[in-house]
Amino acid sequence: MAESLDFDIVIIGAGPAGLGFARSLADTGLQIAILEKLPESVLADPPADGRDIALTHTSEATMRDLGMWDHIPADRIGTIRDAKVVNGQSPYALHFDASRSGADYLGHIVPNFLIRRAAYNVVKDFDNITLFTGVEVTDVHTDTAAGTVTLADGRTLSARLVIAADSRFSGTRRKMGISAAMQDFGRVVIVCEMEHELSHNDTATECFHYDQTLAILPMHGNLSSVVVTISADRADDIMAMTPEAFADDIANRFGNALGKMTLVSERHPYPLVSVYADKFITTRFALVGDAAVGMHPVTAHGFNLGLFGADVLSGEIRHALQNGTDIGDFGVLSRYQSRHRRKSRPIYLGTNVLVKLYTDTSPPARILRDAALRLGNILPPVKSGIMRQLTEIDRRAG
Ligand SMILES: Cc1cc2nc3c(=O)[nH]c(=O)nc-3n(C[C@H](O)[C@H](O)[C@H](O)COP(=O)(O)OP(=O)(O)OC[C@H]3O[C@@H](n4cnc5c(N)ncnc54)[C@H](O)[C@@H]3O)c2cc1C
Repeated sequence: MAESLDFDIVIIGAGPAGLGFARSLADTGLQIAILEKLPESVLADPPADGRDIALTHTSEATMRDLGMWDHIPADRIGTIRDAKVVNGQSPYALHFDASRSGADYLGHIVPNFLIRRAAYNVVKDFDNITLFTGVEVTDVHTDTAAGTVTLADGRTLSARLVIAADSRFSGTRRKMGISAAMQDFGRVVIVCEMEHELSHNDTATECFHYDQTLAILPMHGNLSSVVVTISADRADDIMAMTPEAFADDIANRFGNALGKMTLVSERHPYPLVSVYADKFITTRFALVGDAAVGMHPVTAHGFNLGLFGADVLSGEIRHALQNGTDIGDFGVLSRYQSRHRRKSRPIYLGTNVLVKLYTDTSPPARILRDAALRLGNILPPVKSGIMRQLTEIDRRAG
């Protein structure tokens, strides 16, 4: 007979959000299962994927609490002290300067594969967390009594709460009948790391050219994370450029501000599709990480929001445990949903509007872009709101 296993929580997906969420409940004694389709060797030593993740102060504080920060080598952490947004060839730039917010820096930036590795390292040794790797989920079902997850090898896992943290294209979300708004931007983002002659001065720069967007994010030393956003039909041409031609093109587009540039990693293309689930919960079930909100990367919020949501949900579960309430209770999940949606929805919608504005090549859009940059500089509330978003710490207790 096929094996049947009982847990308090089953998490589908061992990405940084699923693992971070598991770690945040590790000391509660809850029995937690994590199901992941990749083999354990990949979780332990994930390959570089080109993504460098800009982290807010809130995310850094959460990662420190979870012990993840200690697993990130100090010489792979970049610091963003200053950020500029430039519109085409216009000399005008919207400027964010950490010193004006009272903080020492706007955020740190860390390669995604190191975040994934750190997230694995902080859960792997807990006796109450069981990792099932290389498994395929074939069915998920929940009712008022329990949730049940079936694996391709016939095993079933039951739990009081089932969590889907299986990416923005979450198969579990679909199996549970939760619809999601998806926006395909018809564009591709190409990410890589580049070394350069001159210092980036810890400044992140986003240049909106009319045919492509270029972001340069400061990593450690004279290394930057380069993010090129381009129409999907032109992505293959950029991927096919020789490393030297690609590097010269990027240096040119950046006005040679960093001197000679050299490509020092693979180029990784990601199709740009943003996703917002129509609801984050149903009976004994919740979405976490990109499965709930899959952001366009331009405003660097995806993982930050995923970590925030995981932190809020684990806080609600802790309250439930203290009060003797069922951790899968609908009220517990509803509080998570409303707090996460209240924070994430304006950011999600605002990012999509920004992307449209900055990829529209019509003259009115260009004028509006320039006006938006000027207004952002002139109106202190707009600017300080964005700075607060980056530097203030917003935790579950807050
Ligand atoms: C180019 C780029 C740049 C970015 N930059 C930033 C940034 O600067 N700041 C920021 O905050 N965010 C950024 N992000 C977003 C960030 O990378 C994501 O939000 C984050 O990785 C999502 O983590 P996750 O755990 O929710 O999902 P994922 O990382 O997608 O992990 C999902 C996991 O689930 C597993 N899985 C999938 N299906 C199944 C299944 N059926 N069964 C079992 N396991 C399954 C997968 O193998 C994977 O391990 C960026 C994203 C991109 C693409």
